Formats: sequence, C-alpha cells, structure tokens
Amino acid sequence: MAEILILGGGMAGISAAYHARRAGREAVIWEARDRYGGLLDHFHKGGYRFDNAVHFAFSNNAPYGEVLQKTDLISHRPEPYNYEEGRWLKHPVQNNLYPLPAEEKVEAIKSFVERPARSDGGDYRQWLYEQFGKVIAERFPARYTEKYWTVPPEKLSTDWIGNRLYRPSLEEVLFGAMTGRTPATYYLPEMFYPRRGGFRTILDPLVRDLDLRTGKEAIRIVPKQKFVESRDGSREYYDYLVSSVPLPEMVEMIEGAPKRVREAASGLWATSIALVSLGLRAPEAGDHLWFYIYDRDILPARVHAPYRKSPDNVPPGSSSLQFETYFSRHKPLELSMEALLEHVIEAAQKMRLLSPADIAVTDCRILPYANVVFDQGMTAKRRVALNFLKENEIMPMGRFGEWDYLWCDQCFLSGKKVENLPGML
Ligand SMILES: Cc1cc2nc3c(=O)[nH]c(=O)nc-3n(C[C@H](O)[C@H](O)[C@H](O)COP(=O)(O)OP(=O)(O)OC[C@H]3O[C@@H](n4cnc5c(N)ncnc54)[C@H](O)[C@@H]3O)c2cc1C
Repeated sequence: MAEILILGGGMAGISAAYHARRAGREAVIWEARDRYGGLLDHFHKGGYRFDNAVHFAFSNNAPYGEVLQKTDLISHRPEPYNYEEGRWLKHPVQNNLYPLPAEEKVEAIKSFVERPARSDGGDYRQWLYEQFGKVIAERFPARYTEKYWTVPPEKLSTDWIGNRLYRPSLEEVLFGAMTGRTPATYYLPEMFYPRRGGFRTILDPLVRDLDLRTGKEAIRIVPKQKFVESRDGSREYYDYLVSSVPLPEMVEMIEGAPKRVREAASGLWATSIALVSLGLRAPEAGDHLWFYIYDRDILPARVHAPYRKSPDNVPPGSSSLQFETYFSRHKPLELSMEALLEHVIEAAQKMRLLSPADIAVTDCRILPYANVVFDQGMTAKRRVALNFLKENEIMPMGRFGEWDYLWCDQCFLSGKKVENLPGML
C-alpha cells in the first residue's frame, strides 16, 4: 500500500516524490524502465556519453534554480546556428540574413515590410506570415516545422509559441542583413550543463532516499478500488495516484474509461525522434554547440555536439555529435535505422562536420515521445482526457502526463503540485 503512488521516474515523478517526502509523506515511484531519468537520461557507448537529445538547464523559477545550484554546472551562452544549402546563418535567421545573396535579402526584407497585419486566431502558417513576411516564413520556419513538427504549419495552432520565436523589428532585420555583428537575441541569455556525469546529474540532489522502484510498468488502473497493476503481475494500492505516463496511454489503462474519452485521448499525438549519435576520434566536429537544418534532403532537423556541452562526455581529445530526426503517425520514418545512419554520415560530410575515418562509435535509437503536438483541436481533446483523470482523482504531471510543451523546470514545478494533495503541508 502506497500513500502516494507516482507513475514515472522522470523529472516530474522525481520532483513529486521529493516534495512529498519533504512534506513528511510516503511516496513510491513506479518506473517502467530499469533506470530513472526518463527523457533527461543518457546512455554510454564506448567511452562516450550521450544524453537523450540536446539538454541544457535553465530556469525562471526560484525553487528549481535552488536545486540547480547544488550541481557543479558549466555556463553556456546560447549561440545556435542554422544550416541551409551550404550556408551557415546565425540564429534566429529573421534578423541574421547577412550571409544570403543581396537579391535574396532584398526579397526577404520587402516581404517583411509588406507582411500582413497581425490578426487574432488563425493557424501557425498565418502567424508566421504576420511575424516575418511570406518569404522568410516559407524559406525557414515553415520548412523547419515540417521537419520538427512533422506536419505543415497550417495544421498547428499557435497555443505553444510563447517566447520561443523571436519577433524582430524592421531595424533589427535591416541591421542583421547588413552585418554579421548582431547582438544575441536567443530567448535565454545563459544555459547550464553539469560539468560531470551528464544532464541527469541535475536529479542527484532530488533522488536521494526516495522509494524508487524500477522495472515497474503500470498496465492497468482500477480507480474505484484504488490500485494499479504492473506488467510483472504485482499490484499496489494507493491513497493518491499521481501520473507522468503519457496521457493517451493513461486513459487506455484506466478501467471503465468511456468511449468518448478514449476517442478524445487517441486523437492526441506526439512526435518521436530517431536519434543518431556519433563518437569521433577527432578533437573537433564542426563549429557549433547546436544548429538547425532546413534542407529537405537532409533528414535530421537538429544537431548538437555533446562534447561541447561538457568535455566529460567524451574521452580526452575526442568529440561527438548527435542528430535528431523527427517522425510521427503523420510522417513515418522514411528509412531503416541502418539506412538513417548512412544518410546521417553522408550529410555530416556534406556539412563538413567530420571525416568518416574519425568515427569511433555509432548509436541509433528511437525516443518514442519527444514533443506533444498542438494541432488544431488538441486542447479540446486534452481537456476531455484531463477531466476524466480528475473525475477519477488521478493527478497528472509532467510533459506527457499534462500533455504540454514543458521544459525540465516546468516539470519540476508540475511534480511539486503534489503539495496540493489533501493533508499536505
Ligand atoms: C529533443 C528534446 C530536447 C529537450 N531539451 C530540453 C532542454 O534543453 N532543457 C529542458 O529543460 N528540457 C528539455 N526538454 C524537455 C525535457 O526533457 C522534459 O520536459 C522532461 O524531461 C520531461 O520529464 P517528465 O518526467 O515529464 O517525462 P519523462 O521524462 O518522459 O518521464 C516519464 C517517465 O515515465 C515512465 N513511464 C512511462 N510509462 C510508464 C508506465 N506505464 N509505468 C511506469 N512508468 C512509465 C517513463 O519510462 C519515463 O521515465 C527536451 C525534450 C526533448 C524531446
């Protein structure tokens, strides 16, 4: 019997157990895998360490900031780049058009000046036109959307954007077209990464003394009798149930979920990542910590250099790169993993990142849940699924439990919501 049973041992689940414990309550975490960490976990290959895709720590909230302070962190100034047809442009492209030929800059700026007036509502393509003008919108973010979100922009709502895309003034667009000496406008001034041990190390201050049970995959939930069953046949009764399991899977597991709720939940979908990681004998691989790729004939959307996050991620004198190719139920992965690896190595040569002779280790794997997709109608379906959890007194948390575009700091706060359970604090 668990007073508080927490499903999932990622950032949200660990945070929930940590806060429950601080409030003097007994919490048990069930984690399906044999390790905690979820998306922010890492793996080793040869002497190389790779996180599950690019991960940095940043926070605008004080409680998470305090936790970060307990880890020895390297500070990085975000200076991402963009690769397009052999050119490298500073990020974001809209105010860094400098490397483009003059005619193309003129066309882009003219379209920026003539962009439609801002309107309320509309889809993401319309939003892009209104922010950047048609030329920039179509050439960069719209193309990137098809690679990263796996659908054309008109399929997306605009609920997720927040401050993620920079909206420059005309002066900034003009300045960035005339010179490469532009100021940084990335939405975060500073990002952090553990000096040693990979990104998951940020969980170390939280995870001590928790009742964390790995290899426990919840497969059936009976809210009326307040128990959860695991794939290994065991059963745990609870007073309170908290879940970071992906919302559509959660609904499927709950006994007695009505058809209407199941249908709504099955309409929620996320992107997945085919992750290709390369450990290299060479001391350098390209010039950038991370960059975005716009070319349609190069499948990965984003690449980062784990050795630049921290040299602790590679053997001395070595480097490493990791390539993220996104796919989904709306855009299946076009290649087998072997073929994708070959494609990535070829593309990396084309982008002058490496020589194949330097490759020491390779790894290919799938991350089934990457980003929840805000397609049209998603928020209504999500509301139906979340209301159903509420009716069954199950508290959702985390990126996939709440089904939201949350970063680690937000998942930390999401787990902290256990403090709202009756009898807490
Ligand atoms: C490509 C990419 C880059 C990112 N970069 C950053 C970044 O730079 N900075 C940042 O702050 N955030 C970043 N994020 C977001 C961050 O990874 C997530 O917000 C966070 O890790 C999610 O934590 P979570 O606990 O909600 O979910 P998860 O990490 O997914 O944890 C859920 C856990 O539940 C377990 N589980 C699933 N089903 C069951 C079941 N039936 N029974 C028991 N356990 C189950 C899973 O195994 C998993 O361990 C990135 C995300 C992606 C995809």
